[in-house]
Amino acid sequence: MGLLEGKKGLILGVANDHSIAWGIAQALHREGAEMGFTYVGEALERRVRPLAESVGARLVEPCDVGSDADIDELMARTREVFGQIDFLVHAIAFANRDELSGSFLKTTREGFRIALEISAYSLIALMKAADDLLAPDASVITLTYHGSQQVVPNYNVMGVAKAALEASMRYLAADLGPRGVRVNAISAGPVRTLAASGIAGFRSLHRQFAEATPLRRNITAEDVGNTALWLLSDLSGAVTGEIVYVDAGFNIIGLSAGEG
Ligand code: NAP
Repeated sequence: MGLLEGKKGLILGVANDHSIAWGIAQALHREGAEMGFTYVGEALERRVRPLAESVGARLVEPCDVGSDADIDELMARTREVFGQIDFLVHAIAFANRDELSGSFLKTTREGFRIALEISAYSLIALMKAADDLLAPDASVITLTYHGSQQVVPNYNVMGVAKAALEASMRYLAADLGPRGVRVNAISAGPVRTLAASGIAGFRSLHRQFAEATPLRRNITAEDVGNTALWLLSDLSGAVTGEIVYVDAGFNIIGLSAGEG
């Protein structure tokens, strides 16, 4: 029997088959979970719907997390289709492309607001709206990146947004913990996705990454999916408020020196 047999939940953040959220969805599907998916706009619906149908999804709904009305509508549909949910996957981030290159000093007020609202506040908004839908032992995960803790060139305002996301995750874990709901984050190493392509210099960062890690390799959406599976299953039943790194060990390295 699969680890998630009989469990139902929502996955937000599948844009295409390269998305980290899709890597997660495949792992959850393999272990018997039933999932609902969301998309933003018609162009993305054409990509997301066939993927969702390939894993037998009964719910595929539009949801722009910048809109409380969209979030409320999504949760109303979720209640109709699933009743309660056992998990929620938040794999959403956005910043204007101009904010993801060059000097951090040129961050604009509006660019800061958008990045923080879509990439960090959205987790709070979703959990607030899903509050009475979450099963007593539900598990929620979000996706973050080490640029929240240390400076990564060009990541800029998204680093600040991820720091806010990680802190929000901890406050939510403390708030919902007393009723058994867990909230954790996966801090993933670089994966070549649509969102990542908006960050200046990403290709070169991705190329250099493997050599700098203890495991000497890049990570995949499948790696993230398998850790997500653990965090969303009962196997991680005593883990909440944590950031789990899926980065081939990159974050433990202080200085990467060449061999010999
Ligand atoms: P992705 O495939 O482009 O997924 C990003 C998702 O965010 C897309 O589905 C996108 O939908 C969605 N999104 C953006 N604005 C939204 C909004 N207003 N409402 C609802 N959804 C919205 O890229 P990804 O790399 O898999 O990103 C997933 C998560 O992993 C993000 O939180 C990202 O920061 C994180 N992460 C990525 C990496 C990496 O190297 N790729 C590393 C660490 C963490 P649209 O395309 O329709 O806007």
